[in-house]
Amino acid sequence: MIDIDPSTSLAEVAARARAWIEENLPSGWPVDRARLEADWYVLLGDSGLATPTWPREHGGLGVAADAAALIADELARHDAGRPMTDFPGVALGGPTIIAWGTDEQKERFLRPLATARERWCQLFSEPGAGSDLASLSTRAVQQEDGSWRISGQKVWSSFAHISDFGLLMARTNQDVPKHRGITYFLLDMRLPGVDARPLKQLNGAAEFNEVFLDDVVVPDSARLGPVDEGWRVGITTLMAERSGLSGRPGVGPALTDALARRAREVGAWDDAAQRDRLVEAHVAEKVLQMTTIRAFVELGTREPGAEGSIRKIAHSDLEERVARLGAEIDPFGLVAGTADAAEATHEFLSAKILSIAGGTSEIQRNIIGERVLGLPRETDPHVDKPFRERPRG
Ligand SMILES: Cc1cc2nc3c(=O)[nH]c(=O)nc-3n(C[C@H](O)[C@H](O)[C@H](O)COP(=O)(O)OP(=O)(O)OC[C@H]3O[C@@H](n4cnc5c(N)ncnc54)[C@H](O)[C@@H]3O)c2cc1C
Repeated sequence: MIDIDPSTSLAEVAARARAWIEENLPSGWPVDRARLEADWYVLLGDSGLATPTWPREHGGLGVAADAAALIADELARHDAGRPMTDFPGVALGGPTIIAWGTDEQKERFLRPLATARERWCQLFSEPGAGSDLASLSTRAVQQEDGSWRISGQKVWSSFAHISDFGLLMARTNQDVPKHRGITYFLLDMRLPGVDARPLKQLNGAAEFNEVFLDDVVVPDSARLGPVDEGWRVGITTLMAERSGLSGRPGVGPALTDALARRAREVGAWDDAAQRDRLVEAHVAEKVLQMTTIRAFVELGTREPGAEGSIRKIAHSDLEERVARLGAEIDPFGLVAGTADAAEATHEFLSAKILSIAGGTSEIQRNIIGERVLGLPRETDPHVDKPFRERPRG
């Protein structure tokens, strides 16, 4: 394990992380990444750098969010961090299991997560439950032997087709209001009855899935947290998700730097109006980075709250703005077929992702309105009704 702990100064955290990465990153990285990455992720996981905020007894470094942000920045600088396919497991699953898991669950799942031996997906959204997640209707019914029988449909489940486990919320009690009858499970995706079908997206990728659960039987040991209290467990996951999607913490090479470079190459930089827009986007990105650093420093070890919503909106807006600007400064590039252009096209077609994933911008605005500005809460006339008596649709 690397020599970083909660007493290490921030300057030392960055310096030690950088030195460790440079000393240990295999030669041939990143060109030969496909061949090297499995071993590298084990080394990275064992060093604690892949999961710096996790407690030391679970293979982390026990450091606060500000130090973790510096480590993430060093990994990003060397293009040596874990890929987005590991985000649901490392950023969402790990913290949720640490907060709610039994000793056996922590022992079983955390190290394979930290060392990229197992991949996870998030099985929350359903065709009838996205923003209003607590309306989910996938059902889990307990059998006489204590096991659970689960049936229902999930959707938009990123990387489910290549995952070993899923973070699953299911309804276990229809006789109580919607938030109170949900239980959280750690679902083995290879069990009979689990069927993940990839969905082709606008940007050409097929990362999402619809996941059908047809009489899937899981042992009671797959339950995370108390029966019918899965909403509270889910909140831990959702807060971790929002925080993880709220903006790259560090200051350094950024989206708008790459955009400015392209503008110079294609001549758009010479157009004063376009230059203005690029500079505005650059300032917006720096403000987001600074705000993120400030939020991380102020957070310390506290869980992120509504300020994550502010950063998530700012980050979504920035992604959209950068994608639009990329198309404006180099419209022909989008169809030219060069490597740069392919990336720009992909960015353009992916521009809306962040304003939807992890809670839409409208929902973040509701949260800010209610929890930051103190506006009246959205009313729900059925809030106290048992789930089975709520009108559907
Ligand atoms: C890239 C990506 C990856 C994703 N990965 C996953 C995943 O791995 N696992 C998973 O479970 N889910 C995943 N999702 C799903 C995501 O969480 C949902 O799409 C999101 O929560 C919105 O739900 P919905 O699509 O059902 O839209 P709806 O909730 O049906 O919303 C439709 C529209 O109505 C608006 N709206 C809804 N309610 C309100 C309200 N109360 N006030 C104001 N406006 C409102 C919304 O903002 C939106 O514009 C992913 C989504 C994306 C885009």
